[in-house]
Amino acid sequence: NVRVRFAPSPTGPLHMGGVRTALYNYLFAKHNNGTFIIRIEDTDQTRFVPGAQEYIMDSLNWCGIIPDEGPGIGGEYGPYIQSERKEMYRPYAESLVENDRAYYAFDTPEELDAVREQAKQMGMPNWQYNSVTRTNLKNSLTLPADEVKRRLEAGDPYVIRFKMPRNEDIRFEDIIRGWVVVNTNNLDDKVLFKSDGMPTYHLANIVDDHLMKISHVIRGEEWLPSAPMHVMLYQAFGWEAPQFAHLPLLLRPDGNGKLSKRDGDRLGFPVFPANWTTAEGELYSGYRENGYFAGAFINMLAFLGWNPGTTQEIFSMDELIQAFTLDRVGKAGAKFDPEKTKWFQQQYLKHTSEKELARLLKEQFSLTDSEERLEAFCKLMKERATFVKDMMAEGSYLIHKPTSYDEQTVSKKWKEGSAELMNEWKGKLDALSTFDAPTIETAFKSFLEEKSLGIGAVLPLFRLLLTGAGTGPSMFEIASYLGKEETLNRMNDGLA
Ligand code: GLU
Repeated sequence: NVRVRFAPSPTGPLHMGGVRTALYNYLFAKHNNGTFIIRIEDTDQTRFVPGAQEYIMDSLNWCGIIPDEGPGIGGEYGPYIQSERKEMYRPYAESLVENDRAYYAFDTPEELDAVREQAKQMGMPNWQYNSVTRTNLKNSLTLPADEVKRRLEAGDPYVIRFKMPRNEDIRFEDIIRGWVVVNTNNLDDKVLFKSDGMPTYHLANIVDDHLMKISHVIRGEEWLPSAPMHVMLYQAFGWEAPQFAHLPLLLRPDGNGKLSKRDGDRLGFPVFPANWTTAEGELYSGYRENGYFAGAFINMLAFLGWNPGTTQEIFSMDELIQAFTLDRVGKAGAKFDPEKTKWFQQQYLKHTSEKELARLLKEQFSLTDSEERLEAFCKLMKERATFVKDMMAEGSYLIHKPTSYDEQTVSKKWKEGSAELMNEWKGKLDALSTFDAPTIETAFKSFLEEKSLGIGAVLPLFRLLLTGAGTGPSMFEIASYLGKEETLNRMNDGLA
């Protein structure tokens, strides 16, 4: 029974890496007829950012990554926000103390700072609270039992630390990385329970994964160093550990290091699903507001670390669910490519119906034109557009008369005799009784023949008068779209 979770901490907006983790969890769950859960890990209250949880839920929703269980959705294993589960964790931490797998520690932050400083002076900058150093510190392993009791009863601040065994190999098989082996001498005695009465990430994460019956933990590579300790914790509790799959890093477009939120704004592409404004008022731009379709964004993201093993590149969410398996997720970091993202967007736009594009256009630009008119507009403009807004930017001449004429085309193509030629062509158009694209095209061809001129000598002039632009979609389509009256008016205006 596959049960997976996406467990973000509400410390800021979800960036691409986070969304990819959510996506892979979702795809894996759906592929296996399993359950996809969202759990909010907010036990570190110092890092809590207001609005982050709403942002996360809203972004996933936009992406079409819909949880089966989670905050605001419900489920058998809730609540799904750790701060609302606060009371559950202490007994688990205390049970570890009872079984000698954890201990109380009373060292104050100041005392630990002093020890760390001293170690640094002696040339040991990476001091750890561990199986060696704990023998000299203030904890329930070194203090007399009655003093420990007295301190606990007096309400002295304490933390509960995991008693990492000395010199044992921890091994587990990661689905993506293969066997991972770590000696416990390299690990410290992690705090499980804090003096503020809250569990740390490690304890809450393991307890909840156990209580929520999580079968697979699929998460970013940055959590790989914590995994051995997590495996130990499962052992200490006597619980079966879930299977682990640590996803490869997302790299910058140049392959130099991890993709950061600042890279996006610096290099001119979004790194967040939706816009995010920091408390300081700094705006990070999102895919949604930049005009990307959620499908294109998801399709791009799916390929950052996974491939289907075929040449197919365009996948709907359902197709991704069908095709997705963890054995096609690579170990190597995945390079983010903003140009490729644009390409996906273009493909999606191309395959969106004119009806839907018309709807989006109408909504984005508050247009009042008829549906039929807007659909015809989209039909003309979609081939050359990446975003819905491009159609408007490119095709504004279909809606408004040109106010200027492309200078390069004017200087290259507009010659003596051009005005006369266009006047003549205008007369031909005026004589047409039907004004659809094929009729105009036929008339145009016979006009060229009559004049013994090539297409390049005449068409750009016609385009210039009608649109003001040097390039664009079919002129016959454009003229027919504008209609006879508007076409002739524009030609008159241009020739005046
Ligand atoms: N709360 C952790 C995070 O923010 C979850 C890591 C995990 O999936 O275990 O990524």
